[in-house]
Amino acid sequence: MAKILIIGSSTMDLVVTSSKRPGAGETVLGESFTTVPGGKGANQAVAAARLGADVTMIGRVGDDQFGQQILRNFEENHVHIGYVKPVTHMESGTAHIILAEGDNSIIMVKAANNEVTPAYVEEALDVIRSSDMVLVQQEIPAETVVYVSEMCAKYQIPFLFNPAPAREVEASVIENATYITPNEHEAAIMFKDLSLQEALRKYPNKLFVTEGSNGVRFFDGEQEVVVPTYKVEAVDTTGAGDTFNAAFAVALAEGKSLADSVKFANRAASLSVTKFGAQGGMPTRREVEEQL
Ligand code: ATP
Repeated sequence: MAKILIIGSSTMDLVVTSSKRPGAGETVLGESFTTVPGGKGANQAVAAARLGADVTMIGRVGDDQFGQQILRNFEENHVHIGYVKPVTHMESGTAHIILAEGDNSIIMVKAANNEVTPAYVEEALDVIRSSDMVLVQQEIPAETVVYVSEMCAKYQIPFLFNPAPAREVEASVIENATYITPNEHEAAIMFKDLSLQEALRKYPNKLFVTEGSNGVRFFDGEQEVVVPTYKVEAVDTTGAGDTFNAAFAVALAEGKSLADSVKFANRAASLSVTKFGAQGGMPTRREVEEQL
C-alpha cells in the first residue's frame, strides 16, 4: 500500500439549494439544506483512501460538533487522524455554499485550518519522512506550504503540489515540487509572467494542467501532450480536481508510469463527476480499475 500524507484543510460544508440567489439585503426561501464534510485536504484524503492508499492527514478542526463530524468522517473512510488535533480557541472550518440558478456561490471560513502552521507540521516530521508521497493544497497558510516543500526537498520525499484555490506561489515551492497540478485558472495566476506554453515547457513532466472535460495538458520533454479524459454524463463536477489529485498521487506513489498515472487519475476524476457531492462521487479502487 502506498503511504500518502495529506497536509491540508478540512471543513463542514453547509449547502442550501434555492431557485433564486439572494441579492444584497434580500431574503429568499430555500428548498433544501444539507451538511457534508469537505475542504480540499479532507476531500483528497478520502479520495486517496478509497483508492486503496494508506492515508494520513495532517490538519486541524475546532473543538466543536462540526469537528467531531469531520473526524468521524475521516475514520469511516479509513484515514489516520492522529495529526488532526482539535483547536480549542477556534471553530472548525466551514464552507457556506448556495446552489442556485445552475451555479454555486461559496464563502469559506478557514478558522481552525489557519492553525496548520509550520510548527504544528514540524511535530509530524517523522510522518513526512516515511511517506511515499506528500500532497498539499492552498487552503492552509502559505508559510506552511513553503515549509513542507523544504522538508520534502531535504528528505527527498516526492511532493505533489495542488495550487488550489488560486493564489500567488513562492518560487521556491514551484522549484521544490515534484509535480504541480493547477487548473487553467490557477496556472494563469501562478505563472503570470509566462504563457501557458512557456510554463509547460519550463517544467516538463512536472507541470500538469487540468482542463475539465478536456483532460490534462503537460509537456513531455519533446512535445505538448493533452491526455483526454473519459466521456461521462456529468452530474456534479465538485471535487473532480480533488479526485484527480488523489488518484494521481496514489498511482505515482505506487510506481506507475506518468502516462498510466494520468490515465488512472482521469478515470477516477471522470467517475467522480457522475455522482452528486465532492466526496459522494469519489470512486473506489475497484470501480476505477473495472473501467480503465
Ligand atoms: P473542481 O474545482 O470542479 O473540483 P478543478 O477545476 O480543480 O475541478 P478540472 O480541471 O475541472 O479541475 O477537473 C479535473 C479533472 O477531472 C480533469 O482533468 C478530468 O480528468 C476530470 N473531469 C472534470 N470534469 C470532467 C467532465 N465533465 N468529464 C470527464 N472528466 C472530467
